[in-house]
Amino acid sequence: MLVWHDVERLEPAQFAAYEEGVLRRAMAGETVLGFVRLARCALIGAFEDPGRALRLSYVGDRFPIVRRQTGGGSLSLDPDTLIAVLALPAGRHASAEPATLMSALCAPLLAAVRGLGVDAVFMAPNDIVTAGRKVASAFLTRSRGVILFEAAVPLALDVEELLKTLRLPLEKLSEKGILAARQRFAPLRTFVPHLAAAALGARIAVAMAEALALPARQESPPAPDPGKTVVDGRKSSPDIAAFLKTPGGVLYLDAWLDAKSVVREARLTGAVACLDPALFSRLEASLVSRHVTQLEPALAEALGDARPDTIGVETADIVYLGHLCAARFLVGRELGLGPATQISTFSPDRNESMDAILASIDAVLLPYCAKPTWCKWRHRDGCPECGRCAVGDAYTLARGRQLAVTTITNFEHLRAVLADLGKSGKRAFLGVCCTDFFLKRDYAFVEAGIPAVFLDIAGDTCYTLRQEEEAYAGRFEAQAYMDARLLERVLDWRDRLTTGQSAAPEASGPSSGLLPSAS
Ligand code: SF4
Ligand code: SF4
Repeated sequence: MLVWHDVERLEPAQFAAYEEGVLRRAMAGETVLGFVRLARCALIGAFEDPGRALRLSYVGDRFPIVRRQTGGGSLSLDPDTLIAVLALPAGRHASAEPATLMSALCAPLLAAVRGLGVDAVFMAPNDIVTAGRKVASAFLTRSRGVILFEAAVPLALDVEELLKTLRLPLEKLSEKGILAARQRFAPLRTFVPHLAAAALGARIAVAMAEALALPARQESPPAPDPGKTVVDGRKSSPDIAAFLKTPGGVLYLDAWLDAKSVVREARLTGAVACLDPALFSRLEASLVSRHVTQLEPALAEALGDARPDTIGVETADIVYLGHLCAARFLVGRELGLGPATQISTFSPDRNESMDAILASIDAVLLPYCAKPTWCKWRHRDGCPECGRCAVGDAYTLARGRQLAVTTITNFEHLRAVLADLGKSGKRAFLGVCCTDFFLKRDYAFVEAGIPAVFLDIAGDTCYTLRQEEEAYAGRFEAQAYMDARLLERVLDWRDRLTTGQSAAPEASGPSSGLLPSAS
């Protein structure tokens, strides 16, 4: 029997208790499907870091942040979104492959949407889309012998609120930007103007019962539990952190270290789907008391041979994240800095070491946004090195080493330059760009397949100012800060590697003199 109910309104702070109530009934053998509409809130995934997922400066005290038990991305919610919460005894699905389970449970949701005349399809890993626009998202976890499947189906959507709430690299909040973002979503009232949430819920219940081959019975909604589970978004900054984009989402590893660089606390987060709710906390615990340079083997040991219960995230991804975190620490040590959180390596096959990539650098790519807004070279490749900005210093450093140096003026230019680097046999490059750009447009680098070392830029970026569309077209009008002293230290390290010097006299002492010493 599939027992279903419709809780028309639920306070966000009551959601966790509601979810747990449904789950406990399934632990006792029932299959329960509930529908809720939450008052305005941010509903974050089980493994999300609110500081990375949300624009906390906007969320403030405007509305609460609540966490669901299922993984995946965060949502900006209001009562116009129908949330379906299905809990069923895992039974024969206890060891089903996560991606298969997700598509199987999305099938009845898709059938209900298609029954409204919407030509929608399932799009892996977890969306229902029509003509490329998102209609619904689904999330999954499997614990205590129960499968918990949740889906968010917006009937109407306030895209401006969504853009302000979620800290995604999205278009700026201009009319054009909001219009572009609207094109990514297809709330159901776009197709069925007077669709009522209760009617949609009833359709989903029928389709779900049919898919599970169970008779359906509607029940009165349970009395709301006056729970008060709200997430506190604040957390101190980690001593070292790294990120990795995987097909299942971006995964982050943060670590807090003691004076001997031994991990005191570790945190794995991301908008990723992991059906084992305890996996990340087990992995975090396995890192405590390990030296930061041992993160990679520690994760490999903790994961063992068993495939993680994740969608789009493999064991090798998680282990490699440990490698990246340790590499940042070692780079910082080599350069005489604290952990080098501004430096990342990109190895297309994940098999080149930082040293090998550095030693192979024969090109430098710089972003136009680090040139002053008044410079006539800002939107052009090249620089006469007038001495008035860090980009000029970078040109001097690169040209002094006979490295090809290019100012990237827009996204298409980047792709053309990367293609040329490949054709001309360049082995690796040093690239300067903001992390958000790398996360959103990493496919350009993946396509080019050239190893790289990236230096992050600071200050106003077009993501903090929400001007990324302008930036890709080369029209970003604020100046980002590029640390030319750090770039010099990285290039000095490259020189030492290429000339076979192992000592690093400049690592903790003054720089070579072209630029002031890094402090
Ligand atoms: S150094 Fe180059 S980029 Fe910087 S202000 Fe001078 S000409 Fe412009
Ligand atoms: S996305 Fe914007 S801030 Fe980031 S590197 Fe490109 S132009 Fe600069």
